[in-house]
Amino acid sequence: MRIEIKDKARCSGCAVCKNVCPKNCITMTFDSEGFFYPKVDKKRCIDCGRCYKSCPVINSEGENRRGIIHAFAAENNDHDIKKESSSGGIFSLIAKRFIKVGGAVYGAAFDEKLKVVHQRATSIEEIAKFRGSKYVQSDIENIYRVIEKDLKDGVPVLFSGTPCQVSGVKRYLSKDYANLFTVDIACMGVPSVKVWTKYLEYQKAANKSEIKSFSFRDKTEGWRNYSIKINFVSEKNKTIPAGKDLYMAMFLSNTSLRPSCYDCAFKGLERVSDVTLADFWDAEKVLGIDDDTGISLVLTHTDKGEKMLNDLYLDNLLSLKEVDIDKACAYNTAILQSVKPNVKRGAFMKGISKLNFLGAVDYAGANKGIARLKISVRYKLSKLKNRLKKEK
Ligand SMILES: Cc1cc2nc3c(=O)[nH]c(=O)nc-3n(C[C@H](O)[C@H](O)[C@H](O)COP(=O)(O)OP(=O)(O)OC[C@H]3O[C@@H](n4cnc5c(N)ncnc54)[C@H](O)[C@@H]3O)c2cc1C
Repeated sequence: MRIEIKDKARCSGCAVCKNVCPKNCITMTFDSEGFFYPKVDKKRCIDCGRCYKSCPVINSEGENRRGIIHAFAAENNDHDIKKESSSGGIFSLIAKRFIKVGGAVYGAAFDEKLKVVHQRATSIEEIAKFRGSKYVQSDIENIYRVIEKDLKDGVPVLFSGTPCQVSGVKRYLSKDYANLFTVDIACMGVPSVKVWTKYLEYQKAANKSEIKSFSFRDKTEGWRNYSIKINFVSEKNKTIPAGKDLYMAMFLSNTSLRPSCYDCAFKGLERVSDVTLADFWDAEKVLGIDDDTGISLVLTHTDKGEKMLNDLYLDNLLSLKEVDIDKACAYNTAILQSVKPNVKRGAFMKGISKLNFLGAVDYAGANKGIARLKISVRYKLSKLKNRLKKEK
């Protein structure tokens, strides 16, 4: 049986099928919403079934998933690195460990055109490009063979990505490697490349400049009150609170996500990764601590994951506090369940297939609706909380 995409919700776009095809007859192509899907050249296909057997979504039931050994609240002791990271900066600590022993680190980074692509890094300087969440689906198509080569050459490898990507890597490799360590991030879903590209075009036109760099999680106004930050080639800088930016509004209100994200096959406490990283948004409620600089929720699934966290702790590189798994996850629904599509998703994505970014927002009526309202309320509450704290 070969891969055939009849239901888009059953494809995460991981491109494993393309990579295992012995005839190279699968290509990844964009649909009208801007998400990639496999396309099989049926004339060249020999019906070997490898694509079907390797699909992490189709075979998600039979995966070797492990539950949680421990849940921790964790923070990198290096405040500068933590500031550049989305939550507690734990990913950078793990990545540095691998670089120090001559390893290779894989993660999602911007390329020179601000496309989000999975890349390889072998130096401390290079791992900076992986820091910070990029809220767009990363292109992982060409990385599997490079990872496999590293593993076969005995290089210690750290792979990081969304749960579906980690599962894709494991499916592609189809055997366990002692030199592979995997980190998945809690993930509510990914917007499409087309939504992202059209948003960038809108920002460039509105500001009459190319963009030099982009951050989805600037912490200048705090971790909870995070902003997006755009540095333009014209030297103009723009910082927009996430609650007021339209791209983030479409993302956080579940209006621009991939169909498979609304029915994600990788939710729950059991994972194929060694460690799961998330924002510990409600640390204050669970632990009574939160200085608004960022705290990670870290879930360990394997002995390797446990050892990594313990080693970092013993070397005084992070603060670590064990937390009750149920309490910690109760506040982070992205770990446990898929989000529901916003009622405006259909209209917005139809708009994005034909119109520019603002046109699509207007077409869906999403600039005035619940999408923005929901997050601007969260933003205002958070600001109020910060003000009260300062006044105390
Ligand atoms: C699309 C997306 C949705 C997320 N949704 C949630 C959520 O709902 N709840 C929650 O608690 N946390 C979510 N996160 C995770 C969270 O934002 C942090 O990434 C996590 O807390 C780790 O933070 P850190 O400070 O340790 O490291 P950071 O330095 O911030 O983490 C960087 C890591 O994220 C990976 N990464 C960045 N962008 C992508 C991408 N587009 N695709 C794959 N991997 C990527 C990098 O490879 C690297 O491993 C999401 C992240 C992404 C990318």
